[in-house]
Amino acid sequence: MTKRDRKHQLSDSPVVEQIPVACANELAAVEFLEQMRWGANPCCVHCGSVDVYKMADAKTGERNSRYLWRCRDCKQQYTVRIGTVYEESRIELRHWCYTFWRAATSKKGVSALEIKRHCQISYKSALFLMNRIRFAMAPDGSQEPLTGVVECDEVYIGGKPRNKGNNPRGRGTRKTPVFAAVQRHGEIRRRVVANVTGETLKSAIREVVAPFARIMTDENGAYNGIGKDFLGGHSKVCHKAGEYARGDVHTNTAESSHALLKRSIVGIYHNVSSEYLHRYLWQADFLWNARKLNDGERTVTAIKAAEGKRMMYRQPAA
Ligand SMILES: [Zn+2]
Repeated sequence: MTKRDRKHQLSDSPVVEQIPVACANELAAVEFLEQMRWGANPCCVHCGSVDVYKMADAKTGERNSRYLWRCRDCKQQYTVRIGTVYEESRIELRHWCYTFWRAATSKKGVSALEIKRHCQISYKSALFLMNRIRFAMAPDGSQEPLTGVVECDEVYIGGKPRNKGNNPRGRGTRKTPVFAAVQRHGEIRRRVVANVTGETLKSAIREVVAPFARIMTDENGAYNGIGKDFLGGHSKVCHKAGEYARGDVHTNTAESSHALLKRSIVGIYHNVSSEYLHRYLWQADFLWNARKLNDGERTVTAIKAAEGKRMMYRQPAA
């Protein structure tokens, strides 16, 4: 271990202090991800044995430069990358740590161009990192249905500037409709929808909201009739009549989420094609749903989510 590596070795400091170190130094990144994966009980990725050790460099006695482990039972070697998303690229692990950190802590998101500049890697590698990390943030099917008061609303994302001022619901614009359901003081579920007909919007609500919830929408007629499917019924606020809240009836939470999403997409990404919009929604929903965690906890949540998803995602490695 060089003097510089020793200086950057991780101590027992809280995660939030370890992450910036792991972003700057490859050994610290390796040890951070080893700790995330195995905790205090490192084990063999091939046979599961715990009779494993870190290989040392024959000349210096320091840790092997490839950060290899060896298993005394099956005699095989491995690294922390094996069986994870990191296995499919040669991008240094400190860049993975940095990109996870930025993607999980920047309120409005972070662009691949920024990652390219900050890590001094190719744009292709930065894009690979961001795509994998957004996929790690995607819902994995274990999400609970929303309950309590659930605000439902649709928003239009994108479109060329020449379409500005057009009716966003009109034909011929390039805006992509996104449906959002937000549990008040709770989680959000957003998705790209093919259209904003009553059939589409109502089936989206039924998929993500528990049957005993109370639905709130604006006066959009597409939502008419949804109340019969929910024990809490359906309350509407009439924006056209200048009404923004009537007692506890409003869609202000959903509208704040739209504003944040638009600022993120226009401000950071400039624009996103409708084909890829769902990936940005994964990240935006993750950030919203994990907003009560601190930065360290949120980063670790994203890193751990990446582990289980490796087999589900295939694209050419960077
Ligand atoms: Zn083994």
